[in-house]
Amino acid sequence: MRIDLHCHSTASDGTDTPAELVRNAGAAGLDVVALTDHDTTRGYAEAVAALPSGLTLVTGAELSCRVDGISMHMLAYLFDPEEPALLAERELVRDDRVPRARAMVARLNELGAPVTWEQVARIAGEGSVGRPHVATALVELGVVPTVNDAFTGHWLADGGRAHVAKHETDPFEAIRLVKGAGGVTVFAHPAASKRGRTVPESVIAELAAAGLDGIEVDHMDHDADTRGRLRGLAADLGLLVTGSSDYHGSRKTCVLGEYTTDPEVYGEITRRATGAFPVPGTGGV
Ligand code: AMP
Ligand code: FE
Ligand code: FE
Ligand code: ZN
Repeated sequence: MRIDLHCHSTASDGTDTPAELVRNAGAAGLDVVALTDHDTTRGYAEAVAALPSGLTLVTGAELSCRVDGISMHMLAYLFDPEEPALLAERELVRDDRVPRARAMVARLNELGAPVTWEQVARIAGEGSVGRPHVATALVELGVVPTVNDAFTGHWLADGGRAHVAKHETDPFEAIRLVKGAGGVTVFAHPAASKRGRTVPESVIAELAAAGLDGIEVDHMDHDADTRGRLRGLAADLGLLVTGSSDYHGSRKTCVLGEYTTDPEVYGEITRRATGAFPVPGTGGV
């Protein structure tokens, strides 16, 4: 069983449409794939409709959170997408991404980069707009050679010259909301230090005490030492351990199934969830 529990589509900052994502996941030999777009579930219907037989879809989202001034991402799985309290919070975060992206465009203009909101909006399409779309605009203009090169203090990294914060949910509140919607929470790439400051272990322990289900350990942004440390932490705190690609299509270098989750952990996630069930593929359209 090959299980990849963290993937993005054009519903947020990936480059595969939801249909392309599930077809590519099937072609990559995955048995289970999770759709975890940033702060939105709008890719679900298209992914379900295109799901090839032999591939199971886990519905989810990656929620933008912040604790003690540190931005972090919370994966949420198999919650009820209609549950009003969690839906309202997702919409709050997603909608705040638009004025925030416009503010980043204004900063970039002041810094001499001639990016426009129209350009960023075209790149984002119907997806929840984020820094990778702004970064893609900078690549188009030749300001930076790659998307990755836009994530520096010079441009869009946390605290960078053109970075603007967006509304982000308190992770304790996120855990409560996701549980209230029948879902399961996994702290995404908790030690991805190249993205900025990371949450201290003491706070991860508090999140565990508040009902966090797991942490993502096997991820491209964690080196071998970090994974070892996180595995020990998970064992101490009784947390599930997942591994996933964090696939973003051509916007990042990782490939589908580059890291995977143990089938027993996957089974436990599905047993804990009551808000939605994994969807078995029926052949797609
Ligand atoms: P946003 O949600 O708009 O703040 O943008 C965060 C997204 O930017 C993450 O989900 C990643 O897709 C991407 N990202 C963050 N840090 C980096 C980085 N160092 N290099 C490339 N992409 C990054
Ligand atoms: Fe992303
Ligand atoms: Fe993330
Ligand atoms: Zn992600």
